[in-house]
Amino acid sequence: MMDNTGSDDHIRPQRLTDFIGQDDLRDNLDVFIQAARGRGTAMDHALFYGNPGLGKTTLARIISSELGVNLISTSGPVLERSGDLAAILTNLSRNDILFIDEIHRVPAAVEEVLYPAMEDYNIDLIIGQGPAARTVKIDLEPFTLVGATTRLGLLTSPLRDRFGCIFRLEFYSPEELARIVTRAARIFDLEVTGEGALIIGKRSRGTPRIANRLLRRVRDYATVHGSGVVDAEIADMALKRLDVDPLGLDYMDRKILSILIDQFGGGPVGVKTIAVACSEEVRTIEDIYEPYLIQCGFLKRTSRGRVATARAYQHLQKTTDSGRLF
Ligand code: ADP
Repeated sequence: MMDNTGSDDHIRPQRLTDFIGQDDLRDNLDVFIQAARGRGTAMDHALFYGNPGLGKTTLARIISSELGVNLISTSGPVLERSGDLAAILTNLSRNDILFIDEIHRVPAAVEEVLYPAMEDYNIDLIIGQGPAARTVKIDLEPFTLVGATTRLGLLTSPLRDRFGCIFRLEFYSPEELARIVTRAARIFDLEVTGEGALIIGKRSRGTPRIANRLLRRVRDYATVHGSGVVDAEIADMALKRLDVDPLGLDYMDRKILSILIDQFGGGPVGVKTIAVACSEEVRTIEDIYEPYLIQCGFLKRTSRGRVATARAYQHLQKTTDSGRLF
């Protein structure tokens, strides 16, 4: 699995004005934040969806700092029982943000607790067991639920319908990623030329988290093999050594395409078969690798399975069975 970790907290934008790209989303969010601040009420529940590393957690934090309220973070798989969620909800202060990452993985029984909480700011607690059990309604402080998901399609519609605003995060352009790299470099106290930043931006698969990760690695090369400055030459050399190609595809991306082409004649082939052949989890292939391969036009999802496109053959310099180079 790709290294998506690394302590990014000090380079995470804190305010909306520091958040680069996603212009329409930012403008809309700005209105919602200002309106909530002006009224002194909780902001509408908001759902962010998009690939990992595009800024969903960052936006949840920005909302809380812009509104000057607490952010309580949890995630779908952690909320195993409804009591876990009830405990968090009853501890919220007025207008706090509750951030639930991977909200599509909240178990159904826990999700039931969310409905009245989101709609009316209350929950039904069952006290006792058997015939003596009774339900007690508990009022909550007004709060904002911020949900994040990589899979909007896996959310149930009752849950989705309870969000006042749903925001889709897109892949970033190379220029936006170059700005993100330049900003992070400033925080690292590292000198990066415009060209160096753009080379990293172009190879970051449209994803800020990857841009920051590559910047860290390139910084190491600049320190050891260069003058400490990240220029075009150092960026290019470092990324070659890291096996990141000019379009940002890494070893695993190329492996997926190669398997599809070499072992399955370009497809169609099911994602489970690809996952087994790559020794990767289906979820990782679907969430991390495929969206960018599709975005680049290298892979298509069809009803019969995944298919490698002519561009994939060209990029990997592969020939078809008939020996034709596309
Ligand atoms: P997600 O929650 O969608 O997986 P994160 O919000 O954790 O993604 O973002 C990953 C990293 O990328 C953050 O640590 C942050 O530093 C950086 N980042 C994300 N979006 C932006 C942005 N628009 N501008 C600057 N940096 C960003």
